[in-house]
Amino acid sequence: ATDFGIQKALEQLGVNEINEGTSTGSNNFSNGDIIESFSPVDGKLIAKVKSTTKEDYEKAMQAATSAFKTWRLMPAPQRGEIIRQFGDKLREKKEALGKLVSYEMGKSYQEGLGEVQEMIDICDFAVGLSRQLHGLTMHSERPGHRMYEQYHPLGVVGIISAFNFPVAVWSWNTALAWICGDVCIWKPSEKAPLCGVACQNIAAEVFKNNNLPEGISCLINGDYRVGELMTKDTRVPLVSATGSTRMGKIVAQEVAGRLGKSLLELGGNNAIIVTPDADIKMTVIGAVFGAVGTCGQRCTSTRRLIIHDSIYDKVKDAIVDAYGQLRIGNPLDESNHVGPLIDTDAVGMYQNALTQVVEEGGNIVVEGGVLSGEGYESGCYVKPAIAEAEPHFNIVQHETFAPVLYLLKYSGDVENAIDIQNNVAQGLSSAIMTNNLREAERFLSHAGSDCGIANVNIGTSGAEIGGAFGGEKETGGGRESGSDAWKIYMRRQTNTINYTTELPLAQGIKFDL
Ligand code: NAD
Repeated sequence: ATDFGIQKALEQLGVNEINEGTSTGSNNFSNGDIIESFSPVDGKLIAKVKSTTKEDYEKAMQAATSAFKTWRLMPAPQRGEIIRQFGDKLREKKEALGKLVSYEMGKSYQEGLGEVQEMIDICDFAVGLSRQLHGLTMHSERPGHRMYEQYHPLGVVGIISAFNFPVAVWSWNTALAWICGDVCIWKPSEKAPLCGVACQNIAAEVFKNNNLPEGISCLINGDYRVGELMTKDTRVPLVSATGSTRMGKIVAQEVAGRLGKSLLELGGNNAIIVTPDADIKMTVIGAVFGAVGTCGQRCTSTRRLIIHDSIYDKVKDAIVDAYGQLRIGNPLDESNHVGPLIDTDAVGMYQNALTQVVEEGGNIVVEGGVLSGEGYESGCYVKPAIAEAEPHFNIVQHETFAPVLYLLKYSGDVENAIDIQNNVAQGLSSAIMTNNLREAERFLSHAGSDCGIANVNIGTSGAEIGGAFGGEKETGGGRESGSDAWKIYMRRQTNTINYTTELPLAQGIKFDL
């Protein structure tokens, strides 16, 4: 793993010696079985990271709860200063961390850098937020009384993240949670454990430099069983979990069973509606990047194109043509457009999807297939494929977490396209390509898209940190990142103060003694 500057990046991140789990990094509570991390880029073993045992988890919880007592007392704007320093550290390590993300997860180096940029951006957002954790003041119905509300820190926030955004999702949660006065325990995906160790090292350094307890940021490693330690633990008032709908349904029940709060960011089945008034050139760029970027492994990846029958052939031909130009290969080589899938299990799911769409009556217009030979030794490189399908096909109703794009046709009014779009279980990202104001506004109206994200003349993929991010229905309903998403990381308290010598009761109740 010496090519493309990987070795140097690992050194800069202090994770170059993680072998046999001998050095696990800072504030990483892991002494259990070894998790091996293989790169989908070249199939090589990158690192062996130890997993977290039950005893390790108890230590992490103790470190976190004790750190909370210090951290919550620090004024929020001072916490903001620490997050500012964390953002600066990320700026220093941007190239190294972006490279590790690309090498361990398989997305392009540019997308790896983009992920770190999101981390930096959310830090900036959080610094500003540290002076804006506002509650409201309201008029009391009682004379000589004042009433207002405050937001207080919650405590230990548990973060469970997916493999496809191995660093950004953590920062979306952690930057806000820290500003809110919470401490975090993070369980990254077992498919990208080294990214977790690298991030934790960066955070730990900042807390150490400021003489703050490192338990403000704790790392635990392992599969769902380690995640369950948090979902079942009443000491974790909020579990923020990103991943599949299957996982979300289990986590939601587990956390609700103890009346904890959960923030769920689950699967999508995102569509772009292409109307007769669409700009075809923009549509092609948005759809192709949306479908093949990150090898189709974004929660916001474009899965379905819903095209008006009057322009169907034209759009199809333009997209098929664009697929002909795609270069598939090592994601660290910036001339390639498409990197590998995360592992060979994902390759199997991709192949099943292609078989199933044909079995259900679909028509393949761009052939898929697994690539082999030089440069493809990991067995994780596949050809992005396109299939013509029907909206009701079972395979189209589910999220295919791979570069398979389904072309669907609609006729008549834009309402018909919106119906097709909404008629799936998921509700994350949606888009319409049109220059027709009536269609665009209809799509954004209360009778339009039912998704958490609805875009006009932009694809489904990728979002800015300033907006609240998340989706409805089986996507889980949670919101992270910008807008007022911070409120879920805090508890709300209503305060009423009586500054008179009388004690009038609310609702005018008389209680004379
Ligand atoms: P996954 O569900 O297999 O795993 C996600 C995380 O959950 C992992 O850390 C895993 O160890 C943990 N986990 C699994 N079962 C658990 C359980 N019962 N209790 C506690 N933890 C458990 O998902 P994945 O394959 O890593 O990621 C891909 C999925 O994530 C896709 O469906 C994608 O759409 C979704 N995703 C959604 C968003 C979003 O913001 N909506 C963002 C990224 C990914």
